[in-house]
Amino acid sequence: MRRCIVCRQTKQENQFYSNGVKRRVVCVPCVREMRKEFVRDLQQYKKKRGCVLCSYNDNEQKLHFHHIHPETKKFEISHAFDFFKYCGKYRHNLLNHPKIKAEIEKCIILCVWCHTAVSREERKLNAIY
Ligand SMILES: [Zn+2]
Ligand SMILES: [Zn+2]
Repeated sequence: MRRCIVCRQTKQENQFYSNGVKRRVVCVPCVREMRKEFVRDLQQYKKKRGCVLCSYNDNEQKLHFHHIHPETKKFEISHAFDFFKYCGKYRHNLLNHPKIKAEIEKCIILCVWCHTAVSREERKLNAIY
């Protein structure tokens, strides 16, 4: 038996995620709930900003984070949850986690269409320089 640090309920070991090395401290339903919160916060953030080039913000699914300087990229914003889901006080507010915040600040928001165009231009530039 183990106690979840989020819901504080005592549950069976198999109710916790395992990374194969040691048992985690947050139970499966809590991790699912936190993932949902993170995805929702991320989508709200993208919608609020909109595409930096054309201002599109109708559908957050069509808005992407784009690293302006790929060489400084530590992780994809959309994958941040997998790295930080166990971070205590930020667990319900992952976007404020200093490491995630820092990563978001390296990015601009682009819609899929502008993203395609930007990637194409970047490839052209990379071929020249
Ligand atoms: Zn729990
Ligand atoms: Zn756009």
